[in-house]
Amino acid sequence: MPQGMKAPKTHFFKDVDSMADASLMDKIVSLCKRRGFIFQSSEIYGGLANTWDYGPFGVELKNNLKRAWWASNVHQRDDIYGMDAAILMNPKTWEASGHLQSFADPFVKCPACSNFFKFDKIWDEIWNSDWCRSLVETMEGAKDTAVLIKWAKSKGKDLAPNLSLVKEPAVTISWIAELHHKFDGVNLDFKNFMGHIAASADGVSRIPCPSCGGILPDNSMPANLMLETYFGPVRETAQKVYFRPETAQGMFVNFINILDSRHPKLPFGLAQIGKSFRNEITPGNFIFRTREFEQMEIEYFVRPEESDAKLKEWIEARYQWYIDLGINKDNLRIRPHDKDELAHYARACSDIEYEFPFGWSELEGVANRADFDLKQHASFSGKDMTYYDDVSKQRFYPYIIEPSGGVDRSILAFLVDAYHEEIVRDEKRVVLRFSKALAPVKVAVLPLLRNRPEIVGLAKELSHDFKKDMVAVYDDTGAIGKLYRRQDEVGTLYCVTVDVQSLEDKKVTVRDRDTMQQERVEISQLKTYLLERLK
Ligand SMILES: [Zn+2]
Repeated sequence: MPQGMKAPKTHFFKDVDSMADASLMDKIVSLCKRRGFIFQSSEIYGGLANTWDYGPFGVELKNNLKRAWWASNVHQRDDIYGMDAAILMNPKTWEASGHLQSFADPFVKCPACSNFFKFDKIWDEIWNSDWCRSLVETMEGAKDTAVLIKWAKSKGKDLAPNLSLVKEPAVTISWIAELHHKFDGVNLDFKNFMGHIAASADGVSRIPCPSCGGILPDNSMPANLMLETYFGPVRETAQKVYFRPETAQGMFVNFINILDSRHPKLPFGLAQIGKSFRNEITPGNFIFRTREFEQMEIEYFVRPEESDAKLKEWIEARYQWYIDLGINKDNLRIRPHDKDELAHYARACSDIEYEFPFGWSELEGVANRADFDLKQHASFSGKDMTYYDDVSKQRFYPYIIEPSGGVDRSILAFLVDAYHEEIVRDEKRVVLRFSKALAPVKVAVLPLLRNRPEIVGLAKELSHDFKKDMVAVYDDTGAIGKLYRRQDEVGTLYCVTVDVQSLEDKKVTVRDRDTMQQERVEISQLKTYLLERLK
């Protein structure tokens, strides 16, 4: 941002604050810390911006999510092979993928009006553009959002027809409300503000085109979006390498290895879960957008002529996966990309979006990448990356369908979706209604009286036995009511309580998380009882 550039002073955000449910996010962030799901990274040193650590229950939840994805996309299919590629790759990979070119040539082209802009001067260009000057002038001293809408419907239409604010005023204004909440309405940063004026339905801050207001693409990813490091102990002679910005390339470069080692027939796919790194310009919203993140990606190779049908199949399969794992389908939608949103090589793409407290945002993108990737790697490596079809006796480049989901943002969606508050006997109960597969703890064993060694002994014995077959915890650090609350807050499916009676009748009380119904169950039948319900 040029020196001295300040966002115009306005007071018009308050009236739309309620559009973004910031308090729900606050509650979830607080619960995650309080109960040991997610902590701020290196918090004792003041943290590191937008980096988060998964605690004891967080890592169980995350592992359960990844396990469910792997089971459904690798183990339960005959046509997909699992992989785990290295994070650091030969830098040629990033030349072929196009990630490095933009380093040497940091230009960006507007897909809507075809104008080119120098990337490192883009904010000056925006600031000096006709539409920005006009908008800023309109906003000086404004007191409500009406001026934005009015501008969008009049001058905006002529000066910046492709600006999100002009195309979808209501949606855009809700992002600004959220931003305002975060910065308490003062000293709103110009880039942040303009980024949200340009944000599309996903609420992600974007760079608006200085000419037409359209969203500038990030497929020309500038190199400062890649994190660098060095191979070799002496910096001067070391090789510069990059933390991968996506897991996809690790699969493309192994295409020939899979053909030669597994001899698959089309269609077939590769699947991988792993960390990726991007120097995001605008990280935020807790674990939604971070610079270090985990992806779960599939590269599915198909005959070009069947690519449209396969894309459709994958969009439906991936949408259904979230629902099967417990997401309420009212909070999930499929949004096909507009032509001007597509990466230059992509034929089509749809996002699976979740309605977060900060608005509808992408959980997963499912794209038809055509034959771009294999052709690029063939050209940069000099290797034959074609597929030989022994029926037609022809060689060709398969098309690639890519379902690419974010692990961390899925975790956030499942947390938001599972979070429920209800009043039980005049008290607030907070419960995370995770599905059976996702619940970090399946059963908690609680002694009713912690000063009775026989009760404590029996409870510990039961929990040790459960641990062989499921994630179980033992807790005796409070009164029973408090212990139940604590388990509800982490989404534990069943609580088993051992009481005085248990010593005589060899039965315990099993409490169901969702119904809160209690049942006396014979200790000898207990494990079978639980395992049946956990299936
Ligand atoms: Zn443009």
